[in-house]
Amino acid sequence: MAQSPVPKATRLVKKAGLGAWLTALAADNNVMAPVTVDGKPLFRWIGAGEVGQLDLAAVHTVNSPKGGVMPQTEPMLTYSAVQDGSGGKTLDIKPAAEDRPAVLFGVRPCDAAAIDLVGKVYLTGEFTDEQYQARRDRTTVVAIACAAPAKACFCTSFDLSPGAVRGADVVLYGRSGPGSVAEGDAYYAIAYTERGEAFLGGAAAKAAGVSDLPAGEADKLEKIVAAFRGLATPLGKKLGKVDVADKLESLFESAYWEKVSSRCLSCATCTFVCPTCYCFGVADTGAGGQGVRFRYWDFCKSPQFMLMAGGHDPRPAKKNRTRQRFLHKLNYHHNRCGEYLCVGCGRCVESCPVGLHLPLVVSDVRGLQP
Ligand code: SF4
Ligand code: SF4
Repeated sequence: MAQSPVPKATRLVKKAGLGAWLTALAADNNVMAPVTVDGKPLFRWIGAGEVGQLDLAAVHTVNSPKGGVMPQTEPMLTYSAVQDGSGGKTLDIKPAAEDRPAVLFGVRPCDAAAIDLVGKVYLTGEFTDEQYQARRDRTTVVAIACAAPAKACFCTSFDLSPGAVRGADVVLYGRSGPGSVAEGDAYYAIAYTERGEAFLGGAAAKAAGVSDLPAGEADKLEKIVAAFRGLATPLGKKLGKVDVADKLESLFESAYWEKVSSRCLSCATCTFVCPTCYCFGVADTGAGGQGVRFRYWDFCKSPQFMLMAGGHDPRPAKKNRTRQRFLHKLNYHHNRCGEYLCVGCGRCVESCPVGLHLPLVVSDVRGLQP
């Protein structure tokens, strides 16, 4: 759905009404939202019974909401061998069943931008991934602006901000403005797409008391949105704008990749938590002439990722795989699409057990001699 930075609708949502809103939404939609489980903030599919676990305070959930549009494992089709009427057999192939509409609620602006960024890979060019397209078409993204970016946040190193709109149908801005994690008693809910406009005018929103903006509050709202968009991010301030795409052209053979990759544990954490990592594998499971073909998140730093049936592996060493991951994000994607394949969410900074993350590589690359 085409996006416009011009608001299509503006409403007020009381914090106290969020539970009723999500409960009403869950009746007709799959709802994904940040919840705290065993002390950890996670994006999860929630039912009406789990709405009370909603936690909008954590800027960083451990996982991103990318599973909402790109499930970790996803059936693509089922097949079964059937008699063809002349003594032989043929394959009966059925596409995967369509799911209910989905709402991804409480998505941070970096993660919403990642959905749009990755969507361009799946939906632009010669081939369109129809299954991905169908899922995107039935998904509403409700983002929440970040009142207090975390230490590892650096979305501002790209063309984003704690109040950015990219990828979101609706953005919630805390009515008391940025600066504190406690965002006051209400949010301004601003729709930036037609889907978002319909969402704010829908029955679930009405049931939850989502109301028109109080008279005379438009000026205040404009200032608050501008304040969210002008907010600095802690790591972004140190890192500045990411600018290494051209320099990396001459560093393919650099000894740096051997050195920096030596500490990688090939644990997959960085890829699984990253909202812009999108590689998947395809496999079949079944027996007796019936089965399911499914796809699953794959991991470019795995020793098996590029292993071919004949035994050849074009990326046999950690050096090759580490170089691939960072060149993909910082050079190849930039050359192809004109933007970096990173939104500065900071999850790799927080999650990599050996501190091998994207801002480190950007800083190192700046200091390297070609
Ligand atoms: S999280 Fe760190 S150690 Fe694990 S695969 Fe990624 S770079 Fe390697
Ligand atoms: S590379 Fe790191 S900072 Fe960038 S989007 Fe992925 S996890 Fe977030």
